[in-house]
Amino acid sequence: MHDKDFIWSDIVSKVSRCSKCQLHKYRNKPVPGEGPLSSKLLFIGEAPGQKEDEEGRPFVGSAGKLLTEMLEGRGIARSDVFITNVVRCRPPNNREPSDDEITACGEYTTSIIKLVNPKLLVTLGNHAGRFIFGLVGIKWAGVSRMRGRWVKVDLLGLKDVYLFPTFHPATALYNPNVKSILDLDFDIIKDLYVGLSKESVGRRSPSLLDFIQGGTH
Ligand code: SF4
Repeated sequence: MHDKDFIWSDIVSKVSRCSKCQLHKYRNKPVPGEGPLSSKLLFIGEAPGQKEDEEGRPFVGSAGKLLTEMLEGRGIARSDVFITNVVRCRPPNNREPSDDEITACGEYTTSIIKLVNPKLLVTLGNHAGRFIFGLVGIKWAGVSRMRGRWVKVDLLGLKDVYLFPTFHPATALYNPNVKSILDLDFDIIKDLYVGLSKESVGRRSPSLLDFIQGGTH
């Protein structure tokens, strides 16, 4: 077994036995995440829903269908990206995860980021954005304000990772305005991903200062 496979098995095993937060009481199956362990593109969402809890896989419900469509409509195979959430057990009644739960599960979130070592990390929604941007000391101002811009950072010891925040696909299911914005953002994600695949993003990368000062692209 390769090192990455071994570390992933260890994470999956720990998650399957985890009781670090109260969400373990409500789960049917924990949802550690899925995808290639060396993917250049990592998505982090919010929490498993009913279907994810039944299958033990992330983004397999209607929001997942939309995510898959937006990727594959732009020539990115879902099977080429890694997908996880900021909590790995389903909150009761699909409520939002609490800060305490996200912090408790943060050990797995950061382990997965370090393991996959992505060049582009996309946060979906406020909870993922707040947690990930908090790791690099950027104050989260809400997804409506933060979305659509990337910043290149050193993250958890990984060099030059592009962070890109956007809405959670679930928000777009019943809101055509958000769907239009997501389409714009996924066009940028595609450009970044294609650029990274050629080992050049082809556009000026903003500094952390640009981002903090609200620079746009
Ligand atoms: S949500 Fe995360 S921290 Fe909470 S019990 Fe599940 S795996 Fe453990």
